[in-house]
Amino acid sequence: MLVRKQTARWQAGAADDSGSLSLAELAESFGTPFYLTVSAAIDERIGELREALPAGMRLLYSIKANPLLGIVARLAGQVDGFDVASAAELESALACGVSGGALSMTGPGKRDDDLAAAVACGARVVLESEDEARRLARLAAGATARVLLRVNPPFELAAEARMGGGPRKFGVDSEQAGEVLRAIGRLPLAFEGLHVYPGSNCLDAGAIAAAQRAALALAAELLPFAPAPLRTLNLGGGFGIPCFPGEQPLDLAALGEAMHEVAREAARRLPACELSLELGRYVVGEAGAYVARVLERKASRGRTYLILDGGLHHHWHATGALEGRRHLHFPMWVVGGDDRPLEEVTVCGPLCAPHDTWAENLSLPRAAPGDLVIVYQSGAYGAGASPVGFMQRPEAAQVLA
Ligand SMILES: *Cc1c(COP(=O)(O)O)cnc(C)c1O
Repeated sequence: MLVRKQTARWQAGAADDSGSLSLAELAESFGTPFYLTVSAAIDERIGELREALPAGMRLLYSIKANPLLGIVARLAGQVDGFDVASAAELESALACGVSGGALSMTGPGKRDDDLAAAVACGARVVLESEDEARRLARLAAGATARVLLRVNPPFELAAEARMGGGPRKFGVDSEQAGEVLRAIGRLPLAFEGLHVYPGSNCLDAGAIAAAQRAALALAAELLPFAPAPLRTLNLGGGFGIPCFPGEQPLDLAALGEAMHEVAREAARRLPACELSLELGRYVVGEAGAYVARVLERKASRGRTYLILDGGLHHHWHATGALEGRRHLHFPMWVVGGDDRPLEEVTVCGPLCAPHDTWAENLSLPRAAPGDLVIVYQSGAYGAGASPVGFMQRPEAAQVLA
């Protein structure tokens, strides 16, 4: 069923369509470009996580990484809850049969209707400011909203997306958190715990573990200010996947061991407090690929260009976001091209925009118009994180196998 082999992690340069699912057939059925997500690969990843993580640690899926309804439904039976960033994501989870109590809403700028939707279904709201706490208490009018406070820690997780340390729009600064906790205690809100999320997409197990230990220490420091004992400490996520040349996969076994220690320490310092993790890209990123067709092949002053029928409007992170970092590219390959000679090409999308570029001077099997090019590690932050309306070209199909 998998594009390569049933359980293979899809890696650069090792692609073909020899699996039982033919990419060429999918391209015929759905047209190009399309995203392909393989459910079995998601299941497998969840299995690896469950094996590595301490028992009792709650695992939430962050819907924004890939909000495809079929994926949310698939995960509903496998994770302990969902992290949602809007009323619409919350509705997706409810539509998949998830109970409101298993949802947690985060985001530095929640609308009134986001907050109202969370209260209505009994979701936890992760508060990101004192004003938001007041607004929520007012909106909840009678119903008691369950809340966590997101704290901007004094440290950060050095990774691609930094969300802690220094001035941030996320959460309340740790030095103000005591005061805000006291304020929350004076409001008609059901305080349940803290949320610390210092960064995303990190491949260094040691750095993630260190951030978790620091988050735990911070939570213990804030405990005296909390209006109620901590029932939950959300450690955020940060587990990365390798997308660029030279990156090594996260050592999940080592991280798991370190997290067992964190869990033991938490049991000692924060009794009866459950730990949770919220992961997006680590759950779905490696289970998905993007497939586009070569429209044009052209030579320009010594360079060979392949122009695909999909680009930054579908897959911003693999194209437009790399403006200024053109030496980086996602792993990609020419479908069925294993036996062809390699050549150096620049791979572009179809848009009238120079930053619509997949890779520069990449060695790929020789390709002609009509050939399919597959981009791996594309299951997270693909279509949902891309400017799909730019130049009004067709959307990519979403195939869930
Ligand atoms: C986006 C997000 C996540 C998931 O991040 P990934 O890098 O996809 O794992 C988790 N928690 C919060 C609050 C987020 O905003």
